[in-house]
Amino acid sequence: MFSEFGLHERLLKAVAALGFAEPTPVQQAAIPMVLQGKDVYATAQTGSGKTAAFVLPLLHRLLQEAKPRTATRALVLLPTRELAQQTLKQVELLAQFTFIKAALVTGGEDFKKQAAALRKNPEIVIGTPGRLLEHRNAGQLELQDLEMLVLDEADRMLDMGFSDDVLALVEACNPGRQTLLFSATSSGSGLYDFVKKVMREPQRLILNAVSDLGTNTKQQVITADDVAHKEKLLLWLLANETYSKAIVFTNTRDQADRLGGVLIAAHKAGKSAAKVYVLHGEKDQKDRKQAIARLNQGHINVLVATDVAARGLDIEGMDLVVNFDMARKGDDYLHRIGRTGRAGNEGLAISLVGPHEWNLMASIQRYLKQAFERRVIGELKGSYSGPKKLKSSGKAAGSKKKKSDKHPEKKPHKKADSKPAGKKTAKKAVPGQEAAAPRDGSAPLRRKPL
Ligand code: AMP
Repeated sequence: MFSEFGLHERLLKAVAALGFAEPTPVQQAAIPMVLQGKDVYATAQTGSGKTAAFVLPLLHRLLQEAKPRTATRALVLLPTRELAQQTLKQVELLAQFTFIKAALVTGGEDFKKQAAALRKNPEIVIGTPGRLLEHRNAGQLELQDLEMLVLDEADRMLDMGFSDDVLALVEACNPGRQTLLFSATSSGSGLYDFVKKVMREPQRLILNAVSDLGTNTKQQVITADDVAHKEKLLLWLLANETYSKAIVFTNTRDQADRLGGVLIAAHKAGKSAAKVYVLHGEKDQKDRKQAIARLNQGHINVLVATDVAARGLDIEGMDLVVNFDMARKGDDYLHRIGRTGRAGNEGLAISLVGPHEWNLMASIQRYLKQAFERRVIGELKGSYSGPKKLKSSGKAAGSKKKKSDKHPEKKPHKKADSKPAGKKTAKKAVPGQEAAAPRDGSAPLRRKPL
């Protein structure tokens, strides 16, 4: 019950107006800790209700001590403009019965308008690191009196190269502030060192023990012979599955463009009803906005995307995820399926697995501690149906490189639409980390070329 937290009555009114009956697990765990004024480092996925988990106690704190509007009281940093917009929306909804105001400061929008909004001294500023730093350097963002700093999707901010900007902003913040850090994963890109730099003895919350994930999302695997077979399977799925919006993941930009072309051609030829848009790292912010708007307006219903392009996308009603290429890491897989099955909605994630992707799929299953459901589409049954013999790990037994393993389907590291090579950082032990499987599900997958 939300009333048990002792939150301000205006906030409880907003929670009731939004129809939130029960706190989600992350809210249940984080709200009391944050209300105690502690620094909190939480691992929780988008879709878990984590935004309200920090917004509610943040608003409560601001309401408890009414202060004249002279400087920013709370700063929320996010990796992408869309996430910042969504967070602003939630803040406005949860603060609807209060006088608290929030401003949005993200790249790509009018700088002067943002400066004017900041001059009105909103209590809360929400934005992306680069643009916020520009305003701070221009003397338009006062952070000395900051009471709360929230770093949301911190792992993504680091992955996207915002570390220096975030640290420069943190440096400018009141050292006596309370800091909350949310991350979907607990490893990678120096997160551990980063946490040590920006937080003081944080309370640690791990809410998405990977085995708890995907409970609303059914996960299936369909074996495929090659790319052409995968295309047929995909067209069949898009024609026969019940979904309102779907996202199809590829590992490379080239594959996304090519597959987009195949699907669009099928649509034009009247062979597919799916209306498709392609999104990858080479597309700019305008394309992203357009894709989201078109999806929300129902002009398109299928997005073909790479992992980088799909970061931070939160699209209502996305209920089908297809991994045309298997994700390269467990964490990428989690992010992909995190696009669906959100906040209690049912979702379906289907991975098309070619011969050389079997072991990768097995590693991801082990990492997630979940067994994917095997599915066969009768009319499209191929010749490949998985390895003849399996090891106890679920990988193919005796999987020494054979000639038949060479597959034209995927050239893994060519023009990958992911972070630049050479940026890998040593993995450090993080509390709650599993020793058996690597925390981001990556290491065993990288040992041999696919
Ligand atoms: P988030 O993980 O913050 O992106 O939240 C995902 C969605 O869950 C948002 O659309 C919220 O409005 C919704 N939500 C958050 N908390 C609750 C709750 N306690 N009950 C139902 N829905 C919620």
